[in-house]
Amino acid sequence: MSVKKRTSKNVLLDTALNNFYGAAEEMGLEDGLIEILSRPERSISVSLPITMDDGSIRVFEGYRVQHSTALGPAKGGFRYHPDVDIEECEALGSLMTWKCSLAGIPYGGGKGGVSCDPLELSMSERERLTRTFAARVAPIVGEWTDVPAPDVNTGAPEMVWFMDTISKLRGRLEPGVVTGKPISIWGSKGRTAATGLGVAICIKEMLKAEKIDVKGTRVIIQGWGNVGTYNALSLVEAGAKVVAIADVTGGYYVPEGIDVARAFDHINNHPKKLLEGYAQPGLERMSSDEILLVDAEVLSPCALEGAVNAKNAGAVKAKYIVEGANGPVTPEADAILAEKGVSIVPDFLANSGGVIGSYFEWVQNLNGFFWTEEEYNNRLIPIMTENFHRVMNYAKAHEVKMRRAAFLVAIKRVADAVKMRGTFL
Ligand code: GLU
Repeated sequence: MSVKKRTSKNVLLDTALNNFYGAAEEMGLEDGLIEILSRPERSISVSLPITMDDGSIRVFEGYRVQHSTALGPAKGGFRYHPDVDIEECEALGSLMTWKCSLAGIPYGGGKGGVSCDPLELSMSERERLTRTFAARVAPIVGEWTDVPAPDVNTGAPEMVWFMDTISKLRGRLEPGVVTGKPISIWGSKGRTAATGLGVAICIKEMLKAEKIDVKGTRVIIQGWGNVGTYNALSLVEAGAKVVAIADVTGGYYVPEGIDVARAFDHINNHPKKLLEGYAQPGLERMSSDEILLVDAEVLSPCALEGAVNAKNAGAVKAKYIVEGANGPVTPEADAILAEKGVSIVPDFLANSGGVIGSYFEWVQNLNGFFWTEEEYNNRLIPIMTENFHRVMNYAKAHEVKMRRAAFLVAIKRVADAVKMRGTFL
């Protein structure tokens, strides 16, 4: 490989680039393709002037990055978080390209977001922010160009506002411009639970492959949002024991097992959907980081990037890490964990149930014909299960870690598409 490698001060982007270059080199990808795929096709920054509830005006920064449209429309969520910036979106957008490719769905990858603290915003401020964001990115999104979805701190309400704004601007309904909408407004039965369900499938399949009975297996779940909760519910249904959970309000540890249904009800009754005030017998409070290190067989980080890093990886007791979040294990931690013999199911395989579910929603939107939840899950479960085994078998056959195996498989499909389509644009 003789291309000049791009680097970044942004840890997530630097990691994404390193992972890409490492796999590209190993598979002998030609330089031109490396140059193309190491850059996003399009990145935009938008400023979003919002009238706050007190009458003052604040201008927020928003972004949308389309990493690749080689396999289909760019696909990926938009998030609300103080750390959002263009480089984070670029990194996460490239991860979406690999995720959609690996999943075998007809999409490229993208990501967006707004730098803000959503906990400080009222519902009406959130609505104005979302509608302004939609209006600013309107020229580059569409059901056949770029299809956003929920991500960190965004969900069904934001998707409706987004869809409604785009539809009003265009003077025609465009339900497929965004996925993750509520069921009553062109959403799909099954989509809400899809990401968590997919993570849980990977955990169960991993345990099965290792001949460990899921019944009684102890699991730590960091992040009690859409991914963490449905992951936990599905695991508990299979007989696993979720011993620790966490959100921005801290960690909650019960060696005998968290009452997952109760913790789920708790956030649904909390005005900000937080675990704050959650109680049950035997509960020990600790920090969100401390729960990562408690005794358990499986750790499933389902919150933000960088949760498992050089500082804490050495102290992780779990033998299996299944990444529900995007980028929760840093490369330094990856190396430390490999030394310790910890197996990791990488993010863009483990959490791909979300985007596969989004694909199902989009297909239904384009057809105007809706599936039952059973039909939805009957399609999702075999795809997730098969994808997991494809990556695990590839890793075994080529004696590489699952993350590297997933990159090799994913890059190949995108590179082939770029090659076939050529370089006109
Ligand atoms: N935000 C989710 C992810 O990172 C879902 C993306 C989508 O459905 O487009 O995979």
